[in-house]
Amino acid sequence: KLIVLGSVNADHVVQVNAFPRPGETITGHGYQVLPGGKGANQAVAAARFGADIGFIACLGSDDFGTRMEQAFREDGMDTRAVMAVPDMPTGIAFIQIAANGENSIVISAEANACLTPAMLEPHLNYLRQAQTLLMQLESPMETVELAAFEARKAGVAVILNPAPARPLSDALLAALTMITPNETEAEMLTGIKVTDAASACTAAHKLRDKGVQSVLITLGAQGAYYSGPEGERLIPGFRVQATDTTAAGDTFNGAFAAALQEGLDVDAAIRMAHAAAAISVTRLGAQTSIPYRAEIDTFLQS
Ligand code: ADP
Repeated sequence: KLIVLGSVNADHVVQVNAFPRPGETITGHGYQVLPGGKGANQAVAAARFGADIGFIACLGSDDFGTRMEQAFREDGMDTRAVMAVPDMPTGIAFIQIAANGENSIVISAEANACLTPAMLEPHLNYLRQAQTLLMQLESPMETVELAAFEARKAGVAVILNPAPARPLSDALLAALTMITPNETEAEMLTGIKVTDAASACTAAHKLRDKGVQSVLITLGAQGAYYSGPEGERLIPGFRVQATDTTAAGDTFNGAFAAALQEGLDVDAAIRMAHAAAAISVTRLGAQTSIPYRAEIDTFLQS
C-alpha cells in the first residue's frame, strides 16, 4: 500500500481584475469552492493512477469535509485514517486569481492543524505496514517527523514533497528516501538558485550530502532532474498548452509515487508523472484537473 499523509482544503476561488489594496473593497466574479489541499491532491492523483492507497488526514465535521471523505472513497481510497474533527472547519484556502493569471492565496490550516503526533499515534501500525509513505508540509512538522522516523524504522520508503517551503531538520532529511522540491523549494532548502539542470544538480548534491538518498527536482515545463543511486539526469516533460498549473506538482508527486509502487523504474515512473501533470495543466482547478490512468495511457500512446 501507498500511504499519503497530508492536508485537505476547501479552495475558495474568486476571479478579480487586480488584487485589492489594504482598505479597499473590489468586486470579483466567478466564485467557486473547489476540492484542494496538497495531501488530498496527491492522494487523489495516486488513486486515479490506480494505486492501492490509504490517506491519513484530518478534515472538518462540516459539509465540505463530509463530501470530501465521500469523494475520496469514490476515488477508491482507503479512508480508515481520514479523521473528522468535531467542531472544526475543514482547512481552507482563499484564492484570488487576477486577470493576468497571477494568484494571491491565504491558507488557514483549521482541521489540518489537528493532525498532531497524538492523532497519528493510533495509525502508526497501519503506517508501518505500507511500502511507501508520501507527505507534504501542510501538516504539523512534528507529525511529519514522527511519521518519517517510524516509517523509516519499519523499512517503509519515505518520499517528502517539501511544499509549501519550510526549513527542515537534519534528522528529517536523513530519514528521507526521496525529496521532491520544485525550483523555489530547492532554493529555499539549499540557498542555490535553481533554474536548469546544472543548478538542479548542485542543489541535489547539497541535499544528498545531508543524507537524503535521492533527489527529484521538478523544473516546471523543463521537466525534472533526478539525482540518486540510479545516476544523474534531466528527464524532460511533455509540451502542452498550459491553461492552469495549479496542482501540477501535486499531480506529478501522486502519480510518481503510485508508478514506483507499481514497480516501474525511476525513469518510467517520471515519464508517467510528467504525462499526468501535463494533462492536469491543460485543465482548470486542483482535484478537478487530475487525470485517471486511462487518460494517461491514451496521452502516452498519442
Ligand atoms: P509546482 O507545481 O510544484 O511548482 P512544477 O512547476 O515544477 O511544480 O511542475 C511539476 C511538474 O508538472 C513538472 O515536472 C512537469 O511534469 C509538469 N508541468 C508543469 N508545468 C508544465 C508545463 N507548462 N507544461 C508541461 N508540463 C508542466
